[in-house]
Amino acid sequence: MLKIDEIWQQTCNILQHEVTAVSYDLWIKSLEPLDFNDGVLYLSTSSETAKQRVLKLHEQQIRTALTEIEPEIKDFVVLDPDEKENYLNKPVETKQEVNKCAPLCNFNPKYTFDNFVVGNSNKYVYAAARGVAEHPFNKINPLFIYGGVGLGKTHLLHAIGNYLIKNNPDLKVLYVTCEKFTHDYVESLKSSKAQANSEYREKYRSVDVLMVDDIQFISNKTGTQEEFFHTFNDLYQNQKQIIIASDRHPKEIASLEERLRSRFSMGLMQDIQIPDFETRLAILQKKAQQEHYSVDEDVINLIAERCDTNIRELEGMLSKVSFYASLLGKPSATLEDVNEALKDQISTTKQNLTADRIIDCVCKYFSITKEDLVGKKKNKEIVEPRQICMYLICDMLDLPLVSIGQIFGGRDHTTVIHAREKVAELIKENNRVKVTVNDLKSMANRT
Ligand code: ADP
Ligand code: MG
Repeated sequence: MLKIDEIWQQTCNILQHEVTAVSYDLWIKSLEPLDFNDGVLYLSTSSETAKQRVLKLHEQQIRTALTEIEPEIKDFVVLDPDEKENYLNKPVETKQEVNKCAPLCNFNPKYTFDNFVVGNSNKYVYAAARGVAEHPFNKINPLFIYGGVGLGKTHLLHAIGNYLIKNNPDLKVLYVTCEKFTHDYVESLKSSKAQANSEYREKYRSVDVLMVDDIQFISNKTGTQEEFFHTFNDLYQNQKQIIIASDRHPKEIASLEERLRSRFSMGLMQDIQIPDFETRLAILQKKAQQEHYSVDEDVINLIAERCDTNIRELEGMLSKVSFYASLLGKPSATLEDVNEALKDQISTTKQNLTADRIIDCVCKYFSITKEDLVGKKKNKEIVEPRQICMYLICDMLDLPLVSIGQIFGGRDHTTVIHAREKVAELIKENNRVKVTVNDLKSMANRT
């Protein structure tokens, strides 16, 4: 077994990708490995609050990462400073009794199909994942899920895993990250024992379902690609289920052997896209409910508007705002707390935001040219985007109305006022306009 410092270092490497940067700095970094005793890893932390927060927010992620790194760890315990002192002064044989957590399990119980919000961006991938969970070893083999960071790929793999082990307790289901697969392979090569290699093969080839997450990391690793190719073939020929996730399409994975690429496309390849505003809203509402965060509806709207590319960041913002409000002893987080808690994110976006940037976004969104947008054309296809654009510039920038009129081909400032009022009215009455405006705001705010 590795030394506990190494185990913890490797666990942190995984957690760094799993949790938000804020959470990582605030909670994970405050943990230190203290001892390993009878299958239990003891971690110490700086305060009672830090202990509570880290367990509330990240218990399962730590659990999953630890199992991946060192299967001998059956459990972990976080000790606050008082408990740490008691622990260090206790006789050895009673140490494992302190404040034990539930037994380790490979799948995060929070990542289920029920907790996955389905919208236009992910309905097909959800159906595919559910299909495999309900009917493994059927037609969808392998299932290859790909899409940007923080969009729910790992969540879906765990949801499949949770579903499978609940409904078929005898199945051997193995979830690994590509890094873990590579690490095990390298270890088996390093070992002088011939047995190590056969143990490694046995581990991966004796399962009923193999899930490999973040397969893009196999890029440029010739040996691992070769080994994975044989593992894949072995499982496939024996009608075992294979599920793979990647942050990009196989065609975009650099130096991926052609034979692997073609294996990946043998089953179903399904992408997961960036969620629209309504889905982001629903995810935040679900999250707030799950974590018992008390936040105003406006707060959820604002966060959904501001953060539109990564659900992990979306959740991070919500947790940060709710934590901030709880520090102030408020019963519920308000808009004021968002501005304060997310000051850094907001001020950077404001600094970078310009009228040109908003105009570019509007042109892209409606597929029209800048000349038309600021020009004289009066057809509806141009007038509405133009008015929306004026509204956004008024709303998002601190520019005099006269200057805005000038940007739009020297129009009078009353035209700008008219556009602003008209769009404000439309937002109230017409959901399509409301969604458009929200999407455009998010687009413009993206740095
Ligand atoms: P990826 O593996 O694609 O980088 P994750 O699966 O780790 O992303 O998702 C990041 C976070 O967002 C997780 O906390 C996950 O539960 C959450 N999440 C992603 N998609 C959804 C969804 N559709 N509904 C609810 N939560 C989601
Ligand atoms: Mg992932």
